Amino acid sequence: MNTLTDATHDPALRSWVPSANAADSDFPVQNLPLGRFRPVAAEGAENAPWRVGVAIGDQVLDLRLAHEQSPWPDEVYPLLKQLGKGDLAGFLALGCPAWRLLRQALSAALAEGSEQAPFLELCLHPQSAVAMALPLVPRDYTDFYAGIHHAVTVGKLMRPDNPLLPNYKWVPIGYHGRASSVGLGGGVRRPRGQVKSSAEAPPTFAPCRRLDYELELGLWVGVGNELGHPVAMAQAEHHLYGVSLLNDWSARDMQAWEYQPLGPFLAKSFATSVSPWLVSLDALAPFRRPVQRPEGDPEPLPYLDSDFNRAFGAIDITLEVWLQTPRMRERGLPAVRLSQSNALDAYWTAAQLLAHHTSNGCNLATGDLLGTGTLSGPAPGQGGSLLELSQGGKQPLLLAGSDESRTFLEDGDTVTLRAFCQAPGAVRIGLGQVSGTVLPAL
Ligand code: CA
Repeated sequence: MNTLTDATHDPALRSWVPSANAADSDFPVQNLPLGRFRPVAAEGAENAPWRVGVAIGDQVLDLRLAHEQSPWPDEVYPLLKQLGKGDLAGFLALGCPAWRLLRQALSAALAEGSEQAPFLELCLHPQSAVAMALPLVPRDYTDFYAGIHHAVTVGKLMRPDNPLLPNYKWVPIGYHGRASSVGLGGGVRRPRGQVKSSAEAPPTFAPCRRLDYELELGLWVGVGNELGHPVAMAQAEHHLYGVSLLNDWSARDMQAWEYQPLGPFLAKSFATSVSPWLVSLDALAPFRRPVQRPEGDPEPLPYLDSDFNRAFGAIDITLEVWLQTPRMRERGLPAVRLSQSNALDAYWTAAQLLAHHTSNGCNLATGDLLGTGTLSGPAPGQGGSLLELSQGGKQPLLLAGSDESRTFLEDGDTVTLRAFCQAPGAVRIGLGQVSGTVLPAL
């Protein structure tokens, strides 16, 4: 715990929803992530409007019903009315004071001993009985490259003597991604594109043979900024609502051929998958850590620096990738973990990415999505992509407890990203997960 935490992070707090108190629950009462859902069992469910809900244990609190059926503090009613209409984006645009007010009200309402419990018990749906939507429809999507260990490992594959380009420690590298193909995972179609079988051979148009994932966090903009008005570091986190998991599916063979000189294009734009629950920066408060740059590295330029960022800019989030092959599925074997890494190893913080993005006056809007870049650790087994784990496809990765191996993804493979935070004096919270299964090329 630290100076950023309040009563909503109290580790002694328990919920009257029993599953929220399980030690391994991603969604205890200290988390309270928001998402959009609709019950699947209801008649005409496939056409029903999306509702806003809060994940609590293995349940979803339906904020439309909660608004109608429970008493609330006066100042919370307008927020619940808006959320009750399904308008999550409108709520996020209200900014920090509204986010905190709702968090405090939900914490009190879902905590053990709440007088609202008898009313709110009637407003729960099992998560297994709802369909989820994207929390927000991203208007724009930018992918950064903040994972320095990813940048070094990938750089080594191309430039063994000089893996890190000279700009890396000065400027947060990013490119504009494609918002239209951001989804929740499910089936992900193997793309076709220009690929080369060797450096000398001419390209052919064929299904991607080096399909990969990238383990990232998605940062969701809550409050935008006006065109021409950069966001200062001191305000940057007031513009960010929270985080989800993000899988930046990547076609390495297409990427290797197309990326020069303007960067990734079709190798990335066929699919990006995010997890459905928005975990707020407020919920992550107990897991904030100082930023530690290695001795001898340049200090960030003033527009990317603040006392707050130095003290709390990093976030301790454990990140995992799991893989289940079709053969494992046939044999009833569970997924195997391919890697574990931590967001603390990112070189640039969320605030720095947002401040840098707007530093030229570029305007962000509610629902804009910023990918952090692949978050790998320094050790060989901590690569956040198969490109790293198989050293560019040269060393097949043996899958534990199976006779199979992988260099890149095969059809039918299911990739699942998971993340959670744990620290002394805090209750463990999780981000949930995002899964995608590779479908054969058309
Ligand atoms: Ca990426």
